[in-house]
Amino acid sequence: MSIRYETRGPVAVLTMDNPPVNGLGHAVRTGLSEGVERAELDPGIAAIVITGAGKAFSGGADIAEFKSGKQLLEPSLRVVIRALEGSTKPIIAAIHSVAMGGGLELALGCHFRVVAKGTKIALPEVKLGLLPGAGGTQRLPRAIGLEAAANLIASGETVLAETLGKTALFDRVVDGDVLEAALAFAEEVVREKRPLKKLRDVKVEHPNEQGFLQFARNTVTTMSKNFPAPLACLEAVAACTGPFDAGLRKEGELFQKLMATPESRALQHFFFAERAASKIADVPSDTKPRAIQKVAILGAGTMGGGIAMSFANAGIPVTLLEVKPEALDKGLGTIRKNYESSLKKGKLTEEKMAQRLALIQGTLSYDAIAQADLVIEAVFEDLGVKEAVFTQLDQVMKPGAILASNTSTLDVNKIAGFTKRPGDVVGLHFFSPANVMKLLEVVRGAKTSKDVLATVMDLAKKIGKTAVVSGVCDGFIGNRMIERYGIQASFLLEEGALPSQVDRALEQWGMAMGPFRMNDLAGNDIGWAIRKRLYVEHPELVYSKIGDKLCEQGCFGQKTGKGWYLYEPGRRDAIVDPSVDEMVVAYSKELGITRRAISDEEIVERCIFALINEGAKIVEEGIAQRASDIDVVYLSGYGFPIHRGGPMLYADEVGLVNIVAAMRRFARISRGDPKFWEPAPLLAKLAAEGRSFHG
Ligand code: NAD
Repeated sequence: MSIRYETRGPVAVLTMDNPPVNGLGHAVRTGLSEGVERAELDPGIAAIVITGAGKAFSGGADIAEFKSGKQLLEPSLRVVIRALEGSTKPIIAAIHSVAMGGGLELALGCHFRVVAKGTKIALPEVKLGLLPGAGGTQRLPRAIGLEAAANLIASGETVLAETLGKTALFDRVVDGDVLEAALAFAEEVVREKRPLKKLRDVKVEHPNEQGFLQFARNTVTTMSKNFPAPLACLEAVAACTGPFDAGLRKEGELFQKLMATPESRALQHFFFAERAASKIADVPSDTKPRAIQKVAILGAGTMGGGIAMSFANAGIPVTLLEVKPEALDKGLGTIRKNYESSLKKGKLTEEKMAQRLALIQGTLSYDAIAQADLVIEAVFEDLGVKEAVFTQLDQVMKPGAILASNTSTLDVNKIAGFTKRPGDVVGLHFFSPANVMKLLEVVRGAKTSKDVLATVMDLAKKIGKTAVVSGVCDGFIGNRMIERYGIQASFLLEEGALPSQVDRALEQWGMAMGPFRMNDLAGNDIGWAIRKRLYVEHPELVYSKIGDKLCEQGCFGQKTGKGWYLYEPGRRDAIVDPSVDEMVVAYSKELGITRRAISDEEIVERCIFALINEGAKIVEEGIAQRASDIDVVYLSGYGFPIHRGGPMLYADEVGLVNIVAAMRRFARISRGDPKFWEPAPLLAKLAAEGRSFHG
């Protein structure tokens, strides 16, 4: 029963009831059509009110139906809306809470609209690389004008109903019970025999239509260069000044075109991948999370401070523990400075800053944290230090407290083994700056208990993070893959490229930052330390030593003013350093390599295919639960271009067979171990079977 049909005197009330947000699935669409027909045929009915049960009028398309990618069953939303608009009895939408996408388009097809204050209104399809395909691009401008509609549709932005209260979109904006208000309105319409208002009959006028559209096209082109949808939204809206049916046809054509673009596939993929990532296959969704009211953080350095801010920003009190008073003062001082800088930029009010600072307390004593529900360790990256800390935590923390480590590289199972409660231990790998970056890798140890996982996944949402579960391995999902990418970037230098060429090629392809600029930002010494460890632990691995050479000269990146690039004091702009280019060329000579011209295409393919191959291993080993989790990691934490949908979706778009063929070629031409380019068994298998990572 997705639609409830009830009568209130001479008014038929059709209530959409399809939790959670009354998605317009097949049953809802059918129910609406049947309900309107039934009311039409009933001589006792003079008007119809359509509303939504629960938390929304309607949130738009039914996600499950949409995700299936199948042709939608009739009646389509367009057909339903045509039936509403053509009804001989007045139809009034009683809108509350949320009217988005198809939900708003449905309301636009009614003759009258009564809305509750505070209702969220949007046509957000552009965010999925699409446009509103059920007449929204034609009816909204007829209700609120060309400019306002073009802005809303091309941006997908959400606004409150009252901001559009004076337009023809709403006949009445009310406080309180919107259904009662709509019933009273219906009674007036019937009594006064008001003519039925059909938005399709409205003529859109604008004093300088062409001028405005050209301006809008220019703006949209600069702001969304990799995405075709915003411009297509404008083209559809531009058709609203002509005949309605022609505009509707144009909207339909553009919608179909957008559906076939890789960009819309990428955006839809990310949307569903993020939702999938929050689910853990063997942790039932009704697993009871532990209560987290108080959090403690060990170490007030780069990461500890940022993590503390993430919790305070979400209103959760945090205690920061340090070993030395100077370190604590420094850490707390940095937090204050960060908030003050947000205040200066107008991103924070004085009051909010004071509230957040009051939620962060410093301490030098474990007694002050013993009652915390969750403790996150962010001390030095050294197993001995971690052992000392976790042994102590095991002794002092109350039973049931979750003990988390922010380690980037150490074995979470070993860390759990330092305690007598390994089920309570989990890795929470935040990214720097932790108060800004959305990604959180949740590292599941062999013994991490299910309710601990359920708790941290839940908590991640509360603090605004996108959590992805990773198994235990060197570098977890993100850094394990980026290491492969970095190896290729370095060999490319030995073979003939320069750092600025590698960065430019990858940045033009869409990466937010090329590998050398990224290393300069993170600190070249960090990668150097990891490599030095790997030289001992995995002597079989073949690395370029070019990064080590740079580090031996103390060129750690932005923090030393010199790395792969030069940096002026206090600035982050990377300036090409001729001495580094000379060093690169000299190094090739030293190795006896004849440098060759390397194309941007080769740079991109070698770096990105190296990522993909490692991603395939990670899926196969079960380190990631699904290929799409890897895409979420890269899209939310590594500056991978959104319009390409993450490395694994990009692999599918290129075709796995093509990737395998390219890897065989690289094995012949590139430096390093030819085994590097052996396709991961999963990649080889899927390619041989003509399949893809995402099925
Ligand atoms: P940092 O050197 O900036 O800070 C470490 C802090 O821990 C220092 O302030 C130090 O005084 C304090 N400390 C050391 N021993 C302690 C102890 N026994 N008890 C309490 N405090 C102690 O280091 P960081 O960059 O913040 O890294 C911390 C952890 O986070 C490491 O495990 C690191 O691998 C991980 N991590 C770092 C990054 C990054 O980009 N920096 C990213 C993700 C994870």
